[in-house]
Amino acid sequence: MKLILLGPPGAGKGTQAESLAKRRGLIQLSTGDMLRAAVKAGTEIGRKAEAVMKSGGLVSDEIVIGIISDRIAEPDCANGFILDGFPRTLKQAAALDELLDSKGTILDAVIELRVDDSALLSRIEKRAADTVAAGGTIRADDNADALKTRLMAYYRETSPLVGYYFAQGKLRTLDGMAPIETVAAKIDELLGTP
Ligand code: ADP
Repeated sequence: MKLILLGPPGAGKGTQAESLAKRRGLIQLSTGDMLRAAVKAGTEIGRKAEAVMKSGGLVSDEIVIGIISDRIAEPDCANGFILDGFPRTLKQAAALDELLDSKGTILDAVIELRVDDSALLSRIEKRAADTVAAGGTIRADDNADALKTRLMAYYRETSPLVGYYFAQGKLRTLDGMAPIETVAAKIDELLGTP
């Protein structure tokens, strides 16, 4: 099964992708996690991405499309995957369609998590506080200024994907304001029994 989780920063894509991947034996592909790992490892991609990620802007399509096409080609992705944080632009969506088409496969569904904008800042503040409480390091972009930029990038670049996938008949929209377990149950309901 090949799925996309779509929604603004703080919508719960990462949380849902992780638990869904476990429940269904799928691979979670988070471009945000992959880019953060590249920054940490100091690779060339990491060096290119670091400043733009910190400010809340989008890394270039070329870089993220490259990362995803390499990753999808690995054998563990053959059974299926959940994309979380990709695609984020129409160009990325078109590249993904081409990539899947060239492998003779298609997307099963795009799950959109709808969340009130007013809830996003408090969710991101909570994530930062939870990380500190667990002794971890706060993400460089989990602050009010970067969130503003991330939200603008979402509305400008990513939200058109809602229409793009609706037109493809792939879009399934869920209430991302519901408790985590409820959202997870709704996702299972719409995907049907594994
Ligand atoms: P969020 O919590 O905003 O969903 P992510 O962990 O998915 O955050 O991504 C963090 C940052 O990584 C983004 O703000 C962006 O700079 C970069 N990034 C991740 N995925 C992409 C992508 N598909 N295209 C461009 N930039 C990306």
